[in-house]
Amino acid sequence: MLRIALRSNLTKFALMAAIAMLTQFGASQTVDKPAADPRIAGALQDISQQRIQANIAQLVSFGTRLTLSAQDPASIASGHGIGAAREWLKSQFEQYAKDCGGCLEVKTDSFNEEPADRIPKATEITNVYAVLKGTDPAQANRIVLVTGHYDSRNSDTFDVSGDAPGANDDASGTAVSLECASVLSKLKFPATIIFLTVAGEEQGLNGSKHFAKMAKDAGWQLEGVLNNDIVGADKSAEQDHSVVRVFSEGVPVAATEQDVGRIRGSGGESDSPSRQLARYIADVGRTYAMGVKPMLVFRLDRYLRGGDHFSFNQQGFAAVRLTEFREDFHHQHQNVKTENGIEYGDLPKFVDYDYVSHVARLNAATLASLASAPAPPANLHILTKELENDTTLTWDASPGATGYEVVWRATTSPEWEHAENVGNTTRATLKLSKDNVIFAVRAMDAAGHRSLPVVPLPER
Ligand SMILES: [Zn+2]
Repeated sequence: MLRIALRSNLTKFALMAAIAMLTQFGASQTVDKPAADPRIAGALQDISQQRIQANIAQLVSFGTRLTLSAQDPASIASGHGIGAAREWLKSQFEQYAKDCGGCLEVKTDSFNEEPADRIPKATEITNVYAVLKGTDPAQANRIVLVTGHYDSRNSDTFDVSGDAPGANDDASGTAVSLECASVLSKLKFPATIIFLTVAGEEQGLNGSKHFAKMAKDAGWQLEGVLNNDIVGADKSAEQDHSVVRVFSEGVPVAATEQDVGRIRGSGGESDSPSRQLARYIADVGRTYAMGVKPMLVFRLDRYLRGGDHFSFNQQGFAAVRLTEFREDFHHQHQNVKTENGIEYGDLPKFVDYDYVSHVARLNAATLASLASAPAPPANLHILTKELENDTTLTWDASPGATGYEVVWRATTSPEWEHAENVGNTTRATLKLSKDNVIFAVRAMDAAGHRSLPVVPLPER
């Protein structure tokens, strides 16, 4: 990283000139990894593979968690169906809340879904979540969120009683959300973290759609959503257990015509807020020892598939999907059976629990980093009034910030390549042409936590 002590403009200019020369001659000046926060690193050590495995086994024990399956009191008491899973999730979050002296608020978001394609009759759907409220009154309204879907299905999306273990899809993601709650509730953060588990994913993203709309309608300042869906690293021969895919949308689905015009005009196709979140996760992956490396995939999702992050994208929020490197389709959305020597079904024995715990660490480190960081700079503009070869950026001061970094990269580069600390200011001029690179600004606190970078709007 180009960390420059700006003692004088002359020094700055000399350094910038040197940098420009180096860049010109092809020397690579990469943004190095931000320093790890020992408090966050410590929390990651508490992530428990045993607890994750036990939680996945518990979710599988409900037989099926199909959204249309039983949720009457007798079924809940007998431990069968989605109602039993829902009550158990609530009790887990409540246990974590008790363990931290009531630091978590456990809530449900219940609604009645009218009949639709995969919902034959009106069905109550319940999302279960826990809120770790931010401790800084100026920042507590900022929210980061982790989610997984606790509903499951087998070959028949209307089969309300047949086994649908859903160990990987998506008890794994649900267990990640639980584990993040268990571990991060031991710490305090200036901003708020929400640990969410949704239902209805397999019937049409119903739970996440309802939750995301609620967040939008209530004006939540939701800065980032991590959707973990199929993070069990199915133990097939071709699996790569060292990476997790992070999918992010390019041109936002929520972009207006005006937004699209600006994106087209400025080459902003790869700079959606979701993509900044994906790059942030890549940074976190370099900073903390995880055992798994984020592999950024610059598309909304896999072909023919969707997920809960899309519900949040539709409401204009930054949201990404984390998924294992290679899926085994014999083990997804299948009845449990063996045919011609092939085992079908989403069984716990195919899940790599070590891997799920690595993914949980990546999530926890990302949530903790974002919730520790100041708010991203607001009202950020790049001045385009004059024809000039310098670049001037202006922004509003962020609550909690003690300084700012301008980051930039070649227009053809996937990730930020350079960073310059510009100090505690709301305006910076760089000896670089805005026509040649993509700029963003991020806020920092005294301990070095960095916000999500924001790409400026042109100001004429
Ligand atoms: Zn899924």
